[in-house]
Amino acid sequence: MIRYCRRCVMPDTKPDLYIDEDGVCSACRSYENRKEIDWAQRTEEFHTVLERYRSKDRSNYDCIVPVSGGKDSTFQTIRMLEAGMNPLCVTSTTDHLSDIGRRNIENLKHLGVDYVEVSVNPVIRRRINRFALTNVGDISWPEHVTIFTIPVRIAVQFNVPLIVWGENSQNEYGGPAAAADNHVLTRRWLEEFGGLLGLRVSDLIGQEGIERHHLIQYLYPSDEELTRVGVTGIFLGHFLPWDGYGNALIAQAHGFETHPYLVEGSLASYENLDNVQTGIHDYFKFLKFGFGRATDIACLHVRRGRLSREDAISLVKRHDGKFPWTYLGVPLQDVLKEIGMSVDEFIRVCDWFTNKKLFLTNSLGEFLKDAQGNLTKVNDNNQ
Ligand SMILES: [Zn+2]
Repeated sequence: MIRYCRRCVMPDTKPDLYIDEDGVCSACRSYENRKEIDWAQRTEEFHTVLERYRSKDRSNYDCIVPVSGGKDSTFQTIRMLEAGMNPLCVTSTTDHLSDIGRRNIENLKHLGVDYVEVSVNPVIRRRINRFALTNVGDISWPEHVTIFTIPVRIAVQFNVPLIVWGENSQNEYGGPAAAADNHVLTRRWLEEFGGLLGLRVSDLIGQEGIERHHLIQYLYPSDEELTRVGVTGIFLGHFLPWDGYGNALIAQAHGFETHPYLVEGSLASYENLDNVQTGIHDYFKFLKFGFGRATDIACLHVRRGRLSREDAISLVKRHDGKFPWTYLGVPLQDVLKEIGMSVDEFIRVCDWFTNKKLFLTNSLGEFLKDAQGNLTKVNDNNQ
């Protein structure tokens, strides 16, 4: 049996999520605690931090803003410009950039910023995509590493100490209290919560012809380099009340483009638009933990009073965890072709990573699937 939070629709199978004796999850509790926050004081704190790091003679950038061109990073860039900062925006390109993702990057640049884009060797990255999918069930592993390492490397290279990240994913999505309280992103945070799933960058050396020199951009700068520049990362979500949907509205008003229809497996058309492999990534989360992107989005809206729990349950049932035949309209076979995998091979990898405790099987131990290959959860009524 899967236990669900009685306030939102999150299951307790989510890693690091805790449901208390009243049946309420740690992410809901963390959101509830926001009411106690003095946001005016946080704003003041924020401006103090910005003043401390602003380039005094304006000869260098004031901060690094890691950006993808998505709704949140567009919003971050807008807020930095409004605060009178001169940011250097840095993109670590996604594993398989979509057309709409490229257009949104171009839009972000035209907010009026200097911009650096780092693309890692695509031949090696495809091998890592495949290796990580078959070994730890996460096709997006290389991207999860480089979105953290590349902006920090650029901070060191350009001598810019302040990095302004978006939200602390441990805050809204639930995680140990100590992690949620922390508003500074460090190497330790990356290793613990950055989603590396126990696969270290050094483990790749010797796999699939991957050598040490292929992995330069996947490595965090040394402690000596970080100390020399004085690199500090802050989460913008600590200083202002973060809301992805609100960010999307603001980003859209500044030219950000949304998808023409609901993104497959999600409940939104305004996020996760820049990587066509994301459908596979989200599906594996569903196979391992019994919830997908639709659950994440539903919970964010339930907590903010924009969706009733009953409606959330029925929308999640309708869209969560569907077999990813397409993503952003791109057929699965085209996405897999890039990493040299057939659909049949993919289905075998899926079955290998599917959690037998969370999905129904027949007497032979095979997963029960409908004609579209969709699984059935042991209890999907969220009761
Ligand atoms: Zn909850």
